[in-house]
Amino acid sequence: RAKSQQRAGHFYFSRNMGVEIRERVRMMHALRTAFSQHELFLMYQPQIDLATRRPVGAEALLRWRTRDGKFVSPDRFIPIAEYSGLIIEMGEWVLRTACAELVRLRAAGHRAFTISVNVSQVQFRHPQFLPMLRQALEETGAPPEYVELEITESMAMEEPHLLVEMLAEVRRTGVKVAIDDFGTGFSSLSHLQRLRIDRLKIDRAFVTEITGSSRGSSIAEMVIQLGRNLGLSIVAEGVEDERQAQVLYHLGCPLAQGFLFARPMTAEDLAAWLAGEARQSA
Ligand code: C2E
Ligand code: MG
Ligand code: MG
Ligand code: MG
Repeated sequence: RAKSQQRAGHFYFSRNMGVEIRERVRMMHALRTAFSQHELFLMYQPQIDLATRRPVGAEALLRWRTRDGKFVSPDRFIPIAEYSGLIIEMGEWVLRTACAELVRLRAAGHRAFTISVNVSQVQFRHPQFLPMLRQALEETGAPPEYVELEITESMAMEEPHLLVEMLAEVRRTGVKVAIDDFGTGFSSLSHLQRLRIDRLKIDRAFVTEITGSSRGSSIAEMVIQLGRNLGLSIVAEGVEDERQAQVLYHLGCPLAQGFLFARPMTAEDLAAWLAGEARQSA
């Protein structure tokens, strides 16, 4: 009985695996085609100064709309791009496109404005990452101090030596570094202290909880205190309502990003939105 169950279990397992692998391969081809045919694009989500409610920057977020008009979430296709190696080319394109957009926005008068770009660990570990970064900055003319790379907390924990060295090199280019989804990993204080980073991004999960359970708010509070003690900038992610914004501000969080302020938007819409914001403050 145990044996037949085992066999049945094995059959069930491998058949599902087959479906999953086939689906992944299908998506890999579709993604490669979409990328080569310029069907991927960037949206930009503003980041806000909580004291003045003015925009200070925007995060570039990759979008894939398939031929039949459906959006595939980056949480689904980024792992496939990483797995297939396509992330190297794709990530370079994201960085260059975002840098070029920054240059356009600066020309339109938005000069104290930072563009943040998500960087996958596969990209970051690639031996050509630093030369690629330098070349992208040089060729687009983007001022490095207004470009920020977002790396995830899990990445910040692995291979500490490699990371410490890489971050020192990135810093030499003048580009800023933020740790994304902070609070979801287990970085130790001493480890964080050794890393040359500029900013922590509080994960949305802790922002959502901030007006609910006291335990949730204490995690956000802890991250804010930690960031302040280390002299880092802090951005709260996924702020959806005014109460969250108020609590964060009173806890000492200077910056925020979320649907309350603005959704991710096209480059064109961002330029128009920023022009409107500038008129309001004039
Ligand atoms: P992330 O970097 O943590 O980005 C924040 C995500 O939260 C984005 O999802 C954004 O649209 C969403 N978001 C922002 N404000 C709110 C809010 O108020 N409420 C809610 N519910 N969500 C909000 P998105 O665009 O689906 O991206 C998901 C993840 O995919 C990103 O998480 C990032 O890890 C990855 N990703 C996106 N673009 C790129 C890219 O160009 N390169 C790499 N390597 N990863 C990317
Ligand atoms: Mg991010
Ligand atoms: Mg995040
Ligand atoms: Mg995320």
